Amino acid sequence: MSPDQSPNMLSRIQAISFDLDDTLWDCAPAIRNAEKALYEWHKQKTPAITKVHSPESLMEFRKEVRAAYPELTRCVTAIRKQGLKTLLLEYGYPEEWAEEAFAVFYKARSEVVLYEGVIDMLDRLNQTFRLAAITNGNADLQSIGIEKHFERIYAANLTLLEKPAPDMFHQCLADMDIPADALLHIGDNPVTDVHGAAAVGVQTLWFNPYNHDWPEHLEPPNFEVQAIPDVVTLFQQ
Ligand SMILES: [Mg+2]
Repeated sequence: MSPDQSPNMLSRIQAISFDLDDTLWDCAPAIRNAEKALYEWHKQKTPAITKVHSPESLMEFRKEVRAAYPELTRCVTAIRKQGLKTLLLEYGYPEEWAEEAFAVFYKARSEVVLYEGVIDMLDRLNQTFRLAAITNGNADLQSIGIEKHFERIYAANLTLLEKPAPDMFHQCLADMDIPADALLHIGDNPVTDVHGAAAVGVQTLWFNPYNHDWPEHLEPPNFEVQAIPDVVTLFQQ
């Protein structure tokens, strides 16, 4: 814990923003399931593609698409759709099918298992603080069932740059009309979440469930917790 951690800093907090992937749920299993669901869709609808491509070679294909469309990589939805369009066209299928394929992927991608205590934490924090979500991903909070907890939801897109860029933090502060240090950002990533938020003066809490060492070259977070219920405890001190 940082020497900066003090009740005085906590007392300034009016709003809390959350990273989503790997902060409120484990992201990798959802992405794996989504890739599987999408491959099954390809098998049914576009067999010419699955005759040639394994799930692994499709990942390689997407890497090539990312290299060809660097300007789209800042939006995971845009680059995913572009990858699908390019793939469909290459095998003689209508590129409009990319929307249906994306919907299959997106539905499974949003079937996440919340970490223990997330709903309780959001319920409790909501009684005192305004809550926001600030994500570089594209999870659907409505289908996950926690949308109602958040006053504002920001997802990186082609104009709102991904963390650690200041865009989404600035937008959140402006929309909520609060000073930077009245916002506490909670996230698992030392660079995109903690460093990104601290760079604009936002207070930071590092969610560190696997007890990793803090990267020495970065300024430490204001607060650190290992488990979701500890976030609530922090405000009860
Ligand atoms: Mg994360």
